[in-house]
Amino acid sequence: MGLKTAAEYRQSLRDGRVVYLNGGQVEDVTAHPALRVGVDTAAFDYEMAEMPEYRDLAVVTDEKTGEPISRYYYTPKNSGDLLKRHELMVTGTRANQGIVPFTKDIGADSMNAVSMTAQMMGKKEYVERAENFRAYLQKNDLSMAGAMTDVKGNRVLRPSDPRQAHPDYYVRIVDRNRDGIVVRGAKVHITAAAYFNELLIMPCRNMSEADADYAVSFAIPANTKGVVQICHPFHYQIGADNFPVDIPVRNHTDSMIIFDDVLVPWDRVFLAGEWEFAMPLVYNFATLHRHTGCSYHIPILEILVGMAQAIAEYNGIDRVSHIREQITDLAIQLQTLKSLSKASCLDYEIYGGIPIPNRTVTNIAKYNYANSWHNCTKLIQDIAGGLLITAPTYRDWQNPKTRGYIEKYLGGKAGISTEDRLRMFQIIRHALSAESEVVAIHAEGSLAAQRMMILVEAMGDIQECKQWAIGLAGSKKAAADT
Ligand SMILES: Cc1cc2nc3c(=O)[nH]c(=O)nc-3n(C[C@H](O)[C@H](O)[C@H](O)COP(=O)(O)OP(=O)(O)OC[C@H]3O[C@@H](n4cnc5c(N)ncnc54)[C@H](O)[C@@H]3O)c2cc1C
Repeated sequence: MGLKTAAEYRQSLRDGRVVYLNGGQVEDVTAHPALRVGVDTAAFDYEMAEMPEYRDLAVVTDEKTGEPISRYYYTPKNSGDLLKRHELMVTGTRANQGIVPFTKDIGADSMNAVSMTAQMMGKKEYVERAENFRAYLQKNDLSMAGAMTDVKGNRVLRPSDPRQAHPDYYVRIVDRNRDGIVVRGAKVHITAAAYFNELLIMPCRNMSEADADYAVSFAIPANTKGVVQICHPFHYQIGADNFPVDIPVRNHTDSMIIFDDVLVPWDRVFLAGEWEFAMPLVYNFATLHRHTGCSYHIPILEILVGMAQAIAEYNGIDRVSHIREQITDLAIQLQTLKSLSKASCLDYEIYGGIPIPNRTVTNIAKYNYANSWHNCTKLIQDIAGGLLITAPTYRDWQNPKTRGYIEKYLGGKAGISTEDRLRMFQIIRHALSAESEVVAIHAEGSLAAQRMMILVEAMGDIQECKQWAIGLAGSKKAAADT
């Protein structure tokens, strides 16, 4: 095997996996009218590797085998590698209508986090398993989901706390035998898992000794016996009410994945009871995946900035001072995200022998865009005006009895067609959906999760600042005591 074509990727999904959507079981995810949108969105990663203009970005030569492999599964060696991967995600999302293909990036984040944690544990068998699994992913060019988020039940209770309504709110080991471990539980919000080949499972929080059975990480093919996926409906489809667009619709669904006593062979197990390493694994994955979040949010933010400027011009208000202020605010957000994403690669850190984007900078970058997302959407809503939600539909546009009125009265600045203006409202309405706001806030971890990591990472600096302040105050005793 080597690199897969997009057609081979589609074929690989016809494997008997158990997937439900909208109340029914999906026989073939590549043929289902809704899920096919997700498959096409993901397939773009494979298409990029076949397109001459993206080939150098998407593909690298494996030093060990001399074979071409996906850049995602290449173990980064330096900041140049981190920057290239960042560029791949930004470019891939731009070229895929503003939706990240997701096919291997989250899987690679999980794979790297598992490799780093295995090295940090110093357990030879885990290091070997991780590297063997990476070689398998490289050789077979597999798509892979990263499944960290448990359903959790009562959030403030530990997984093993008897006050939880049942013991399966976090994925756990229910049996160990000669062949492997048997796992039970459910993960939720797992992006695109319905049309990926492999699932890499990790714990989602720190664990205590009592939670040892919940400290579990493993990888299994998506069609493994006992794995059931329930997807949410696609929130956006171009229907008869919308102006048709001549570019394919891109989108993803996310799965709740149930592990109904699933047997995982030992060579696919990366953590099984080493509860002290649950948190390092979470931290490693969180940093890598938040950097992925920053990368794919750059094109999303670029589109918002572009829409804000376009509708301001269409409405003739682009030179008005408060509108220019609002566009400036949006530009500041975009440039901050771009700069921090790059800075985190340049100022990289090494954990478990693998360079990763700077933890503090990455978490600040993710926190900053997530925390300001609603403000960005507010600015665009203000610039665009109420037609964002009150505009007539494409069906009214097509109706000869109403078209003339719409064309005459819903125009903006002279020289801009009413149709172009209505089309712009349509894509802004889609871009400002509640879905995109929830993605910004929760995907890659809630706001508090980033703040927690920022404080932990910054505490060394904070203590040094405190010592300086104490020294400046002349309090020698206090300085010595701290
Ligand atoms: C579109 C989308 C895609 C996603 N894709 C993936 C994916 O591919 N893989 C994956 O693993 N995850 C994925 N996620 C999950 C994402 O990481 C979680 O949504 C996020 O971590 C929040 O978890 P939650 O949704 O369970 O919300 P909750 O954990 O219920 O959070 C809600 C609020 O409760 C607070 N809270 C939670 N627990 C505690 C506590 N113990 N103490 C105090 N406060 C607490 C949080 O800070 C937050 O304010 C995705 C999420 C979304 C929305």
